[in-house]
Amino acid sequence: MFGIFQKSWQFFRKLANIPIISTLLKFVMVPFLIQFVLMFFMVAYKIAYGTEQKIVDLTWEFDEKTIYWPGFQKFNYTKKIGTSESGYWYAGNEFQAAEHGGTHLDAPYHFIKDGWKVADIPINRFFANAIMVDFSSEVEAHGSDYIVDAKLLESKLKSFEPIQNNTVLLIKYGWSKYWPDKKQYMRLDDEQVGHYPGLDNSSATVIANDDRFIGIAVDTSSADAGISENYAAHRILLGRNMYILENTKMVEHFPEKMFTLVVAPMKLTEGSGAPVRIFAVLT
Ligand SMILES: [Zn+2]
Repeated sequence: MFGIFQKSWQFFRKLANIPIISTLLKFVMVPFLIQFVLMFFMVAYKIAYGTEQKIVDLTWEFDEKTIYWPGFQKFNYTKKIGTSESGYWYAGNEFQAAEHGGTHLDAPYHFIKDGWKVADIPINRFFANAIMVDFSSEVEAHGSDYIVDAKLLESKLKSFEPIQNNTVLLIKYGWSKYWPDKKQYMRLDDEQVGHYPGLDNSSATVIANDDRFIGIAVDTSSADAGISENYAAHRILLGRNMYILENTKMVEHFPEKMFTLVVAPMKLTEGSGAPVRIFAVLT
């Protein structure tokens, strides 16, 4: 048996001594072998770690700290039953809340009379691609009344090309750090005008005119900046059948340029909005 190997090895050495074969080995076979070994390790790494997904919850908890608009029903939770009297634990509670508070979805019907209500939004829009543009440093530099500049938004979006269809645009202002401190988060002045960053007519139009977007998410309580007087961004975006996710919890920085977003609003038949659970699926 050993003899066969020895003979084969000798034959291979002889073969390798032939100039054309040795050149072929040097310039073709060796790089090929290196590539093969590298690919083997890459595939092994993928099998071991590559299929692992990281799922990030972009939803704030609903409880007595949840922020609601002035004049609307706050989160009211009644502990109804909690007992072991029958020999087993039995609990059931009740809650009451406004549609537009905490992490929630605005349906087109919020500002468009004939627009989709929450239950009308096609469910394929709830399994979306997503990108996150970060305006934290602009907010830091310009203060809480910062309004997204349309030109700057366009240039930031360029770095995410190619943007896929069915994409939700997450806009991070670095505002989640103030949650749930209502004073800091809403910054309502004596006239009940809020002071937090947002979009205006022109920056909302950049998004609305791009058919690849199906919705946006912001880490403030409104798509419009607090000082807006006419809800222009809401009307423009919802007018294009986009949905708006507000009070989105954005505390992490995602290294991924693009990720998957799972959006699960409560299926309120008549809803102009609804509490929503949002997940980012990172790979
Ligand atoms: Zn809303």
